[in-house]
Amino acid sequence: EAFPLDQVDGIFVRSVKNCIFSESDPTPLKGPLRLVAVSKEVIEGMLGLDVAVSQSEDFLQYFSGGKLFPGSSPLTHRYGGHQFGYWAGQLGDGRAHLLGEYTSRKGERWELQLKGSGKTPYSRSGDGRAVVRSSVREFLCSEAMHFLGVPTSRAASLIVSEEAVWRDQFYNGKVKKERGAVVLRLATSWFRIGSLEVLAKAEELDLLRKLLDFVIQEHFPSIDSNDPGKYLIFYSRVVNETAHLIAQWMSVGFAHGVCNTDNFSLLSITIDYGPFGFMEAYNPNFVPNTSDEEGRYSIGAQANVGLFNLEKLLEALTPVLTIEQRQGAGLVLKRYPHIYQMRFHKLFKAKLDLLGEEEEDEYLIAFLLKLMEETGADFTMTFRQLSEASMQQLHNMSNLKVMWALQNLASHKMYPEWVSMYLHRLKRQGGDSDEDRQHRMRRINPRYVLRNWMAESAIRKAEGNDFSEVELLQRILAQPYLTQDAAEEAGYAAQPPWWAQGLNVSCSS
Ligand code: AMP
Ligand code: MG
Ligand code: MG
Repeated sequence: EAFPLDQVDGIFVRSVKNCIFSESDPTPLKGPLRLVAVSKEVIEGMLGLDVAVSQSEDFLQYFSGGKLFPGSSPLTHRYGGHQFGYWAGQLGDGRAHLLGEYTSRKGERWELQLKGSGKTPYSRSGDGRAVVRSSVREFLCSEAMHFLGVPTSRAASLIVSEEAVWRDQFYNGKVKKERGAVVLRLATSWFRIGSLEVLAKAEELDLLRKLLDFVIQEHFPSIDSNDPGKYLIFYSRVVNETAHLIAQWMSVGFAHGVCNTDNFSLLSITIDYGPFGFMEAYNPNFVPNTSDEEGRYSIGAQANVGLFNLEKLLEALTPVLTIEQRQGAGLVLKRYPHIYQMRFHKLFKAKLDLLGEEEEDEYLIAFLLKLMEETGADFTMTFRQLSEASMQQLHNMSNLKVMWALQNLASHKMYPEWVSMYLHRLKRQGGDSDEDRQHRMRRINPRYVLRNWMAESAIRKAEGNDFSEVELLQRILAQPYLTQDAAEEAGYAAQPPWWAQGLNVSCSS
């Protein structure tokens, strides 16, 4: 294909037509290279390899773009997307290469992708690289999300080089030189809403059907490929699972940061870790990304943004649906808020160990969240400490000296009312002991999440070539429900340090 160059906002964009992928080889990261993080869980559990392979020179080469597997033909994906509410046209893998599909001995298939592996036909004005700080964040967070039970892409390795990468980060008034890094990441599929949108917008309907049929056949095996209603069934699945994913984000206080349609997976897994953040003081208006001035992607807006993105998915599917199917899909979408609410309710009930269903449960949850909002109580630790305190302690706050988040919550004048409601609700459940309740709740409410200051602290060291805290965080966050000495010493469950106040994360990565 010829690649015409269109000028958009002063940036030359290569519009690629009539394809889903473009062949493109990674550009090797310039050495010396160093493997600074590796996920044993992924390499052994998912790829079925001995983690010792990661110590070889070959590994460094293969997963930094230096060497290709025999017969491999890396691809970059053409997709589009709605960014911050507006159709942004063609985007595509601007700095990622799909190496291929890997089938493990267990028969599981994973799409292996390098991120930060150089320019592609979709790089627009970008350099195709990723810096250490954003790569560390992606590596740590995608692994942490998995161990929190949230569907996500995974990270296998992080390789850092000495190659200079320039970003708008300032240090002593000068642009700071940063180093390039490549993450090897895995997902069952990297297709997004934007993968379908770009085809629909370009009116490439044969390709649109082809991609849909492929995704359904490969990833939705329970949908019969001969069923004339298959696209509608597919849509209904995506609506359901997207609602579920966002409810799961909310249940761990995760704000994605850039919920554009190109960052929303068709398989409803969390993808594209950029300026994400875990909410600390409870605040529905929490915005992790400082570039998002209007707060479009605040944590509390995510459920609605999911609805917007699913509307855009429906628009992309419209040309291949019959009139009746379009109506059906419209009805499915109408149910989304209800599906989301149900999922959210179920997850938060579990966080409070509310067994069975009582009419006042919704009120009990909303009441707690309101108290948390008004006191700015820490999201993670409030739920965790509710899991660690005995009912007696919750009732009689004087014994809660060490529970800083609960103390904060209990400073609200309505706390006695809420806690009495909660304790009555727990008592009505009868059944097992208070220890059993605490035990169940501790398996649901994590003690450690990747707070921004924790990532920042690890990154500051990593920039000075000390990756020990990256490794520590990786290890701790693999067991987020288990109290661990090293984590306690590092203050990971304590009140955030004073310097965490002014921390910023932006889209620059
Ligand atoms: P994101 O905001 O990370 O979802 O990225 C939006 C688009 O910009 C995607 O198509 C990325 O591939 C592309 N992009 C981001 N950073 C770079 C970069 N450094 N070089 C080339 N493309 C990039
Ligand atoms: Mg993206
Ligand atoms: Mg990104």
